[in-house]
Amino acid sequence: RFITFEGGEGAGKSTQVRHLAAKLTAAGVATLATREPGGSAGAEEIRELLVHGAAARWDATAETLLHFAARRDHLVKTVWPALQRGTWVLCDRFADSTRAYQGAGQGGDPAFIEQLYGAVVGDFAPDLTLVLDLPVEVGLARAAARRDGGARYEGMGQAFHQRLREGFLEIARRAPDRCRVIDATASEEAVAAAVWSTVAERLEL
Ligand code: C5P
Repeated sequence: RFITFEGGEGAGKSTQVRHLAAKLTAAGVATLATREPGGSAGAEEIRELLVHGAAARWDATAETLLHFAARRDHLVKTVWPALQRGTWVLCDRFADSTRAYQGAGQGGDPAFIEQLYGAVVGDFAPDLTLVLDLPVEVGLARAAARRDGGARYEGMGQAFHQRLREGFLEIARRAPDRCRVIDATASEEAVAAAVWSTVAERLEL
């Protein structure tokens, strides 16, 4: 099983990946938690380029290519071998982040993103995608308190983050069998409980 977590800055994705990994492990399910961009040695090198560069360092097309280069390495080296062994893979961001950030957010061509998806990822897709949704102001305040997330998009303004949020919600509307939107304004424990019940229901645990 391949489960991805998506959402804007400060949504709590990495925290929720940790909670779900712990619960699945306790339930006896072999689980691997990973992230994008990153998750393999080569992809982590590309991540360094991406997260330490200002958002305007490359245009949306170049950024999309970098994300898909990292994604390819991550899939080949980490995700597909783990799934082959029967391990469940939980991923903090995946292709929906490219659709939302480089597409909806930065104005990249959605058709180009889908073309690359086909070429690089093929027919493979998450079994379940959890979209952690919260108002832009709440997410940005959380990210600012953490003093890291969102730094790359400082100065992009609320409109950018609003496009991201709407981008993720639109993805979820268009792929209701794969995606579930989770209210991420609730407490960490309440979100973890919502994630767990969704996983149990959708993947018949
Ligand atoms: O998930 P995390 O917040 O650690 O992501 C690292 C940075 O890369 C964030 O600033 C995120 O918004 C950005 N990012 C991006 N495009 C993606 C995925 C992540 O700009 N497709």
